[in-house]
Amino acid sequence: MPIYEYACLGCKRVVNVLVRTMNSKANPKCPACGSAKVHRIISNFAFHQSILSKMEQLDPKYDKMIDAASPDLSFDNLVKKYKLDAPIKPDKK
Ligand SMILES: [Zn+2]
Repeated sequence: MPIYEYACLGCKRVVNVLVRTMNSKANPKCPACGSAKVHRIISNFAFHQSILSKMEQLDPKYDKMIDAASPDLSFDNLVKKYKLDAPIKPDKK
């Protein structure tokens, strides 16, 4: 069930109304004053972001802070520890 924002002419407030049907003729009432003189307004809507895109938007300084807090897990240290920058050699048999 969607929640819409309405501007109430009765109490001159912006209220959130849970609309129980998809029927556009639904006649919501102001939950604050009970007035039926409410007009739906277009509200800012939230959109879902993946955790990856949130991480990408983080300031790079947080990467450095995380690296500083746990130096063993820093990217540079892992590359060094597991020799990720070395060319891959075939196993000796
Ligand atoms: Zn009202």
